[in-house]
Amino acid sequence: MFILFGWGKVTRQVVGQMFEKTCGYCNQTHLWQLCKNRTWFTLFFIPVIPYKTRYAIACPNCGSYIQLTAEQFNKMKMDLNTASSMSDEAMEKIKYAGKNAIQINFLKQMEERNNPK
Ligand SMILES: [Zn+2]
Repeated sequence: MFILFGWGKVTRQVVGQMFEKTCGYCNQTHLWQLCKNRTWFTLFFIPVIPYKTRYAIACPNCGSYIQLTAEQFNKMKMDLNTASSMSDEAMEKIKYAGKNAIQINFLKQMEERNNPK
């Protein structure tokens, strides 16, 4: 009998919209999405068993992403479900991931200039 199976089909499930961010890759500002990427073992092209799950906040335009731990993902998902926003501190930590203090300060100043209170 001939059984066709494979590894590596990836599905993306968008859980919710997170925040507006200018993407460092495509340089466009979009609402970034909280998503769950699963890699599947497939049988006859049908996804059967997910064997790898990755959590991320992704740019909807070009698909570049910030990877999250399961813990961070679950917390954000909970925050989305309860419709309460994340603490500013937690939000900034993610929003400015991979940037140094000088870059963060610069971005904050730009934001203040763009959104005068
Ligand atoms: Zn992008």
